[in-house]
Parts: sequence; structure tokens; C-alpha cells
Amino acid sequence: MGIDIGIIGGSGFYSLIENAEEVEMTTEYGHPSDKVSIGTINGKSIAFIPRHGKKHTYPPHKVPYKANIEALSKLGVKRIITTVAVGSLKEEYAPGDFVFIDQFVNMTWGRDDTFFHSNPVIHISPADPYCSELRALASSESKNLNIKHHDNGTVVVVNGPRFSTRAESKFFKNQGFDIINMTQYPEVALAKEKGICYLGIGIVTDYDAGLENKDIKPVNATDVLKVFEKNVSTAKNLITELISKVPENKSCNCSKALEEATGTPK
Ligand SMILES: [Zn+2]
Repeated sequence: MGIDIGIIGGSGFYSLIENAEEVEMTTEYGHPSDKVSIGTINGKSIAFIPRHGKKHTYPPHKVPYKANIEALSKLGVKRIITTVAVGSLKEEYAPGDFVFIDQFVNMTWGRDDTFFHSNPVIHISPADPYCSELRALASSESKNLNIKHHDNGTVVVVNGPRFSTRAESKFFKNQGFDIINMTQYPEVALAKEKGICYLGIGIVTDYDAGLENKDIKPVNATDVLKVFEKNVSTAKNLITELISKVPENKSCNCSKALEEATGTPK
């Protein structure tokens, strides 16, 4: 029997896990961000990895994404629930809102973003990279819990660790992207390659380069942390409820991602 659900998020989520045991893991891609905390939530077996390490040692461009996903995959995890701080590019995505991300645009560079560097040659289609079943479940549970949320959102993922210039932020806004973040890629794409369902819960912490018409100043790291921490308990409630509602069998197509991915391009 494998572990039911993997969680990747901030270290505030340690306290969610009952009977937690910390396990040192290693993979052919190196060590995960930290020891993997294994235990239960609402009777389901859970493996938790703090994305940036317990002591926040890994900046976004140095997170061992492949080792994290490989470790969860090795444990038999079939679904991954994650939380991320996101900046808003649209006024209606306000600080404190939750966003169930459905699309990403990758603007990162130099990150190892595939498990398939040689045979077999794999061309995964991430047309719909996020799990539709988990997103729908997250939306309905948020309604029940009265959490202000958005059923979908396109995240542009930038390399970091710096934030955007006003010009970059304006460019992203003009593209119609909703939110901005530094860690969703390649995490979600790697999960897809493993056929693991992936839910990205974005917690809006700021308005990126600000809102000039409302005199809202550009983001800074202290404020991001403050707003994120303020919403961790809400995220914990949501995840706890979500986990109890996750059905035994999947109704989504996430596990089939690899079936159509092998072959030689024309
Ligand atoms: Zn799925």
C-alpha cells in the first residue's frame, strides 16, 4: 500500500499531520528539499515535503523539484496537493484570495524540467496540467468553508528570486495572465510526467508591481510572508476537508498522461 496523498508547501503545514514520522530519503536526482514527513490526515496516509526546506534553505530557482516529485512517486503517491504564494496581476484577485490554478505559462530558465532526457523519448502534453477533479473538489469545499476563491487562474512562473520590474509586470498583465509565482514550474510538469494528479492552491499575497491607480506599492518579501502566514490556517482547514473528500478512485485523466506520450516526432 502506497501513501495516498503528497503535500508540498510551507513549513506551516507540519502541524497538520498526525503521528508524523520524518524519513530521510534520497533519489537518483538527489535529496528532496528536506526529510519527508509521513503520517495521516483524516485517516488518509500523507507524505509532506516543505518546498523550500524546513529552514527555508532553497530559493525558488534552487528547489530540488525532481527529487521532491521522485520521492513522492517512490512512496506511491497518486495525488499531490500544494500551496504557493502568488502575486496578483488583476485587481479582482485580491490579497487573501485563494486561486485553484488551471494553467501555467513558463518564463523560468535553466531548471531541469523533465525525467526523460534519453530513452524512452517522451513528449508529454500538459495542455491541462492541473487535475480537474481536485480543482472541482477544492472549489466546492471552499464554498462550504466560505473561503473567497477563484475557480481558475493562469499563473506566469518567473525564475526569481527577484520580483518583477514595473515593465515586466505590465507585460504579464497585458498578456492576460492572472497571477505570478516562482515555483509552479517545473513542479506541476514533473508531476504530470509521473501521472500524478496535481492541485496548485495559490494564495494571493500582493499586487506584484503594485496598482498605480489605487496607490498600492510594489511587493516586498516581508509582506508576502505576512499575508501568506495569515492565511495558512485557512489553507490547513481547506486541505483537511479536501483530503477527507478525495474519492478512492480517480475520475480524471491525469494517470493516462504517459500513455500517449511515447513516440518519435514526425
Ligand atoms: Zn487528476
